Amino acid sequence: MKIGVLALQGDVREHARSLSDCGVSASLVRRASELERVDALVIPGGESTTIAKLARTFGLFDDISARIKNGMPTYGSCAGMILLANQVLDAIVGQETFGGLDVTVRRNAFGRQVDSFESDLTFDGISEIPVRAVFIRAPWVENVGIGVTVLAQVQGHPVAVRQGSIFATSFHPELTGDNRIHKYFVDSVCQQAIVQ
Ligand code: GLN
Repeated sequence: MKIGVLALQGDVREHARSLSDCGVSASLVRRASELERVDALVIPGGESTTIAKLARTFGLFDDISARIKNGMPTYGSCAGMILLANQVLDAIVGQETFGGLDVTVRRNAFGRQVDSFESDLTFDGISEIPVRAVFIRAPWVENVGIGVTVLAQVQGHPVAVRQGSIFATSFHPELTGDNRIHKYFVDSVCQQAIVQ
């Protein structure tokens, strides 16, 4: 399975490196032709409003949205989680998302850049050693639809969720050198899509 990293803005290289540490050579996706060549996509953290606007400018927005809804395994981190959510609270006027993930997220829910923090999380489906999670102007999930599984929480708020082939975290695993979250995406989310 070929995995791409949406390379319009944000933590692109860091995600590509984490995937490469999992034995996956990821390709960068900036145009529709590059999207066509991948079977799965990582949407990095960065700024959700900027990534959405650039996806429109590069003519990728509708294709990404359609692929996600057609079952392409997709992992969104932080801004990527916002871009996957069907509903966003505290969005800017006219903010668009690719959608597909039946959740409502709140942007910048944990506060501003200065309120960024790290936390050790218990993550359902990942071994007993806690996952060190970095939150940078992170969203949290405020409501989940019936098909959505919550995999990790902080302060009572879901920060990792999965709905079939769509996986999202509020935090940035690409910054810690711990590749278990990327491995979960590759081994569990992408593999399950192959089996189906
Ligand atoms: N707050 C940012 C947004 O709305 C996300 C921050 C991040 O990805 N680190 O897009």
